[in-house]
Amino acid sequence: MTKEKYVFVYGAGISGQGVAEILADKGEKVILYNDTARDMSQTIIAALEKNGGKFICGINPTEYLTKTKLFIISPGIPLTTSVVTKARQLGLEIIGEAEEAGRLYKGKWVGITGTNGKTTTTTLVGEMLKTLPVKTATGGNIGLALSKETEHLDADSYIAAELSSFQLETITTLRVNIALILNITPDHIERHKTMENYIKAKANIFAHQTKEDVVILNDDDPIVRGFAKAAKGKVCFISCKHVLPEGAYMENGNFVFAWEGKKQVICAVKDMQIFGAHNEQNALGAIACAYFAGVTFANMGKVLKAFKGVEHRLEYVETIKGIPYYNDSKATNTDSAIKALEAFKNGHIVLIAGGHDKMTDLAEFMELVRTKTDALILLGEAKARFNEAAIKAGVRHIYLVNTFADGVKKAYDLAKVPEVVLLSPACSSYDMFDSFPQRGEVFKDLVHKLPH
Ligand code: ADP
Repeated sequence: MTKEKYVFVYGAGISGQGVAEILADKGEKVILYNDTARDMSQTIIAALEKNGGKFICGINPTEYLTKTKLFIISPGIPLTTSVVTKARQLGLEIIGEAEEAGRLYKGKWVGITGTNGKTTTTTLVGEMLKTLPVKTATGGNIGLALSKETEHLDADSYIAAELSSFQLETITTLRVNIALILNITPDHIERHKTMENYIKAKANIFAHQTKEDVVILNDDDPIVRGFAKAAKGKVCFISCKHVLPEGAYMENGNFVFAWEGKKQVICAVKDMQIFGAHNEQNALGAIACAYFAGVTFANMGKVLKAFKGVEHRLEYVETIKGIPYYNDSKATNTDSAIKALEAFKNGHIVLIAGGHDKMTDLAEFMELVRTKTDALILLGEAKARFNEAAIKAGVRHIYLVNTFADGVKKAYDLAKVPEVVLLSPACSSYDMFDSFPQRGEVFKDLVHKLPH
């Protein structure tokens, strides 16, 4: 293939910029294209232009597409836009950034997917991999583009990669040596259209495995368990609910891993700092991934005990007048908010929820809100629908507030020992914030400024 042709990178976010820069550094003529105007660093523009590429926004890119050899799409962009349709009509090869990273990087992949728990588990696995005597990295939706994270790795290396359904949808050959599927519940249906498409995208994580590889499946989730029959390599199960003949599970209050007739205790569940059944699932997934990557049981235990969790996921903020405050801004759907409520075994929660409404069914969530919370504070675009569902479920103490600051103040006024204040919105943040991290930062800031 001649360098006369372009590599067209669609989407100039973190992953688009990362892969565009790397390919330009390798001598490719790269067009970095964004549908809408956005700022771009001079370093990237210069790197592109050095080889005859460029950064373009907004215009019809057809003239470039006709001279393109490879079309790389960023995970944030659906496969239904007019630019993708044009690329298809022209018969271009369309791949995602993760696939390109896989083509450039010669080492091993530990890939983690699931509706919830990806970032936490990937971070845990990344920490465990660091104990190996090889170069390692952690990436995906965390930090830099995968192609950037893998740039300085070699054939002996390992990367722990968070792979969302959007990334998995556009891999065509990527061989994920150790693949973990944590759970699958309805989310992102807006983008994938049907649950079947969403499941199919998730299954792509082990589609290119060989018999040397392993897929780790959550035995407690019927959809995930069902993937076993399509596996080409080894299958290892994890379960929070029961003892398994082989795999990662809990027994007598310990995390245990059993494989090929050998069984090993890793550490006590209570010694882990992150809490809640969902984090036990994440820990089990991480243990299984680490085992197949060659991490020792002792090192797995050390990491599990030291790990403080990832920001904005059931993150402890501080205790004011005997009331602990928790920031779970990342709970952008009811499923993760349910996990947060369940994590507080004694209930007595003053819950702040609401935001941009994902319009999913609220019955199960509100039933738990009724049993676990002493007060429900609702805000954002979702507040009227959430209020209706809460009343229907029999939630008694509901407070509707106008601003986010009012919500935090209301929680402060209401909470009495032994209650906890929890922000777990069950909604995305786009009605009031740019992102869930921004929402979490604002929450923590407001909490720190409350009268002590
Ligand atoms: P993801 O990257 O998949 O969005 P995170 O690790 O960022 O997952 O966690 C997001 C939220 O999902 C957390 O705040 C928590 O409430 C919930 N969560 C985390 N792990 C799990 C799990 N294994 N199952 C269900 N919910 C989970």
